[in-house]
Amino acid sequence: MQTINKNTKTYNPTLSYITENFILTVEQLPQSTNMVFKMLNDHIKTGTLPLTFDRLSELFPEVLGTKCFNKKHLPFCEEVKNTETGHLFEHILIAYLHQLKKNADGVDMKFSGVTVWDWNEEPKGTYQITINSEGCYDHIMPKALQMSVVLMDKILS
Ligand SMILES: [Zn+2]
Repeated sequence: MQTINKNTKTYNPTLSYITENFILTVEQLPQSTNMVFKMLNDHIKTGTLPLTFDRLSELFPEVLGTKCFNKKHLPFCEEVKNTETGHLFEHILIAYLHQLKKNADGVDMKFSGVTVWDWNEEPKGTYQITINSEGCYDHIMPKALQMSVVLMDKILS
């Protein structure tokens, strides 16, 4: 009998981004992108960042219209006012991936994301983010990551 334990799964990131607010590492696999997003300050939820909605409206309103499956069944434009910062990053990255894929290939590609955390096992403010899609998006990922890191840093500053 075989048991699958998430703690024994290997994680081999090949990209990393470090800002004064967070560290992001990225593992690109053929079918998915696995990331660890680690906050370096106390902004682990956007509730401590009251300008989040306004800044997104101004800088990248597309993210406010992304679909979200949260426990409270809130649309993302409401959820964003007090959500985990890792979850916000997931939505920003998906919105940029969608936009860049459309611009590059003229394809309206669907992306899905999941953000999880376990602060009993890992430091508070550490998030595991997974992005999936049915098609190829490797070629736009570096630019989408770069744009997402820049925008996230603006929101956190
Ligand atoms: Zn969501």
